[in-house]
Formats: sequence, structure tokens, C-alpha cells
Amino acid sequence: MQIFHPGDTGYDEERGGFQTGLRHEPQVIFAVESAKDVEEALRYAETHGLDHAVQATGHGLITTTTGVLISTKRMNAVEVDAETRTARVEAGAIWQQVLDEAAPHGLAPLSGDASDVGVVGYTLGGGYSVLAREFGFASDRVRATETAGDVVTALEFELLPIDLVHAGELYFDVTHAEAVFEAFHKWELPDHVTASLTTIAFPAGFPGPLGGRSVVRVTCASTQPFDIDHLRVAPRLIEEFGRKPFAAAGKPLPPHTYQGDNVLLSDLPLDALHRVREKAANAEVPVFLGLMPLGGALTANATHLLKLISPQLGAEASHAEVFDEVRSFVVGSARNFRYAVG
Ligand SMILES: Cc1cc2nc3c(=O)[nH]c(=O)nc-3n(C[C@H](O)[C@H](O)[C@H](O)COP(=O)(O)OP(=O)(O)OC[C@H]3O[C@@H](n4cnc5c(N)ncnc54)[C@H](O)[C@@H]3O)c2cc1C
Repeated sequence: MQIFHPGDTGYDEERGGFQTGLRHEPQVIFAVESAKDVEEALRYAETHGLDHAVQATGHGLITTTTGVLISTKRMNAVEVDAETRTARVEAGAIWQQVLDEAAPHGLAPLSGDASDVGVVGYTLGGGYSVLAREFGFASDRVRATETAGDVVTALEFELLPIDLVHAGELYFDVTHAEAVFEAFHKWELPDHVTASLTTIAFPAGFPGPLGGRSVVRVTCASTQPFDIDHLRVAPRLIEEFGRKPFAAAGKPLPPHTYQGDNVLLSDLPLDALHRVREKAANAEVPVFLGLMPLGGALTANATHLLKLISPQLGAEASHAEVFDEVRSFVVGSARNFRYAVG
């Protein structure tokens, strides 16, 4: 195990992560490689009266520590047992590793839309997979958890016999947002289909037809065929829909600065959705929204997950104004999808 203090070569690299707008400021970093190392780090924190935080990839950084940082990225073994259809992963493993090990056996985990997210952090927050409504939360599949204090040192979970999926993305120019939002809202989503609606502004240099445009994106996936004709209410900038390997459904993004939060809703009438869309589009800072209908196999007492994300920090007030439009339907929030909001 390596230990880093401020000023040491490697300190900045070790504490750095996917979130570039915020980083831990630890007095000491324990770059752990085993459960014993984690125990040592926790003992050190306790003896010195310091708080501690765990970081695998930094995708889910909410608040920073000035005490002990337990960096797990080196502790990342992944073993797949095809016979029992299970995977055992260490604390720092990412989904891509599990996808790579499981796919040759025709198996897949309930991973999400970014394959470089950490398995443990994602699963501790429930884990909303791209097939969530069909198969439930990733956390429903956990078979065993190994811990040292409050740190998960390894997880064992079930894999599913998933190979190909019907999945795709439709991109519309934002000028068609009202029609697309309405079509998405009216969609009588079969229980086996997982779908989401997202607004994004692509930077001018972004390659292809999306560069410099504000767009609405619909993504959807299922292991079973389904119809998306009713979503084609306006010309598509890109439409890419078909049968593909499950592993292709989650793509990594480059590290960047972002702040985000979410609410779980008990209902979302169309007029409230339009108000949310307008508030987000006219906010003082760029605010992108993501809407995921829940239900199906997701055992949650909410009908929708509404996420807001901004490509900068200091967006809390704008997010609060958007959330105000649905305040009366809020029944909670998801631990995943909270970023830099400490
Ligand atoms: C681009 C992007 C795409 C995403 N897509 C999805 C998605 O499709 N579905 C979904 O559900 N979520 C998604 N998320 C959210 C993601 O699952 C959470 O942010 C999750 O916390 C990230 O875990 P991490 O280990 O990668 O990040 P880290 O920042 O390294 O860890 C996040 C937190 O998880 C906890 N944690 C991590 N490891 C341990 C451990 N070993 N023991 C105890 N606690 C630990 C800690 O509290 C830590 O602060 C996405 C996030 C991003 C940025």
C-alpha cells in the first residue's frame, strides 16, 4: 500500500477523480490494496481523530474530506463465476471490468449508462441500470457484502443471462422540446422498457450534428422488442436504435466539472413537466434535466426520478428554482445522482 501526504509526488493524481470541479483535501491518502489496508486506514483515522472518505473513481463526489482519504482504485479484482452466475468485485472495481469478464459467458451485470462508474458506489446508491424497469435495482442482486467498518471491501452479486438488448437513442433539436416531452410523457411504457428523457447543450467543437446545439435526447432499452414510433414527433438529428450487445449501452464520458441533484416524485402531470422544462431552459446557469419513469421491477414508492445537472459549480439556486415546480410531488431523493452538493 502507498501512503501520500500533501506535497508528495502522486498525491494530486491519487486524490483526483472524474469530478474536476472539486477534490478531496486529505491530510493523508491511503492507496489501499487489501481489506487489511482499509482497516489500517480506519485505525489511523480513529487514532488521530480524523474523518475519512472513500474514493474509487470520483464520479459520485458529494462532499470532500480534510482527514483521511481511502483511495480504492488499486483494489479492483473482479472474478466471474459463470456456473453460479455471480461476480465478486473488490472495492475499486468499475463496471467495464465486470462487463468484460461477464460478456464471454453471455452474462451481464445491472450496470448503468457509464461503464467507468465504480461498482460499489453505484450499488450502494441502489443502482439504476439501463434495464432498471425490467430487472430492478442493482442492489437487489447483491448476494454478499464484505466490510471493514463502514467501507465495503468486496461485493458479490448476481449476473443475468443478458447478451443482446433492443436499445437506442433519439436526438431532437431543442426547438421540438415541447412536442418530444409530451410524446415521452404520454408513452404507456411497457414494464420491461427502461427509458429516459434528457436535455443537453453540446459545445461548439463537439463532432457531428450535435456540435453547438441544444438538444433533447430519448434513450430506451429492453431485452424484449418494443415500439418507439410514437416518439418520432419531429425530425431526429440522430436516431440510432436496434439490437446491440448490452455492454455497448454504457459509454464513459471524459472527466469534467458538474453539479447535480435529484428528486423522487409521486406523480408528474404534463403541465408540471412543461414548467420544469421551461424553468431549466431559462435558468441563470445551464441546467440540463433528466427524467426517468420508475415502476416496472423498481420497487420504489415513486413514479419518476427527476435529475438536474449543470456543467459548473454554484448552480444550487437555479436547481432549487426548477425543483420548486414539482415540490408538492417530492417523496425523496436518490443517493446516486447527487454531485458536489455538500
Ligand atoms: C457520468 C455518470 C453516469 C452515471 N450513471 C449512473 C447510472 O446509470 N445509474 C446510477 O444508478 N448511477 C449513475 N451514476 C451515479 C453513480 O452511480 C454514483 O455517483 C456513485 O456514487 C459513483 O460511485 P463511484 O465509486 O464511481 O464514485 P466515487 O466518487 O469514488 O464514490 C462515490 C461515493 O460512494 C461511496 N463509496 C464508494 N466506494 C465505497 C466503498 N468501497 N465503501 C463504502 N462507500 C463507498 C462513498 O460514499 C463515495 O463518496 C452516474 C454518475 C456519473 C458521473
